[in-house]
Order: sequence, then structure tokens, then C-alpha cells
Amino acid sequence: MDRKYDYEMLLHRALESLPENVVVKERFEMPKGIIFHEGNTTILRNLADIADKVNRDVDHIFSYLLKELGTAGDIDGERGIFQGRILPKKVQEKIEKYVNKYVLCHECGRPDTKLVRINRTLMVKCEACGAIRPVK
Ligand SMILES: [Zn+2]
Repeated sequence: MDRKYDYEMLLHRALESLPENVVVKERFEMPKGIIFHEGNTTILRNLADIADKVNRDVDHIFSYLLKELGTAGDIDGERGIFQGRILPKKVQEKIEKYVNKYVLCHECGRPDTKLVRINRTLMVKCEACGAIRPVK
């Protein structure tokens, strides 16, 4: 039997013996916006909840979304209100763009990160693996 095959078999066995909840816990779930229209506005009902899930400021996310969607709006308690009827799919896309840009570690894919400023450059620092990258 050749050694490579041996190694792969061992690796396979090692993965199989991992407790299942370890694997599940590690997977990051993209927050889903609850988005609907009210008159001539678009409501993101769970804005505060999304901010909480990704551990970022509500204001920070909301101003990013406004800028990306090219509209004005207000925060009303838990909700974000955008002027105009915006396709829910488009709002969700921007939420995901925000998470990829400001939250996720690009090395390990975990969301346990912090925004830090180094020499005036905004960086995403991962608390899980220690990787650091500039926000682009
Ligand atoms: Zn990381």
C-alpha cells in the first residue's frame, strides 16, 4: 500500500471523528435582512439585529447601505428606513457586501473581527486567527 493513500485514509478518519457541533459552530451564516415596502419607503426591519450579529455599529452599517443604495433614510428603533422602493434583493446584496468588506476575516472566514486603525488605514483584525487586512 502506498504512503499517500495511508495518509489520506488517516485524515479522513480524523475528520470523521470530530464532534459534529464543532463543524456546525464554525460555519458563519450570512445575516438575512427582513425587507419590505411601506408606501414609498423600503424597510429593513432587523437592522439592529444584523448589526448585533456581526458586532458592528448600527450607524456604521446603515450609513454604508445608504451610500451604496444612493438614497437617504432614517434609523427608527430596530429598523432602517430607506427612501424609495428598493428591490429587497438589492438591499440584501449590500448587506452581504458590507459583511465581506468590514466583518469577515479573509483568511479563516470567521466573523470574530474588530475594526482597528493603523497609520490612518482602517483594518479588519481577526480575533480567531490573528490575520489583519486593510478595508478595501
Ligand atoms: Zn481569521
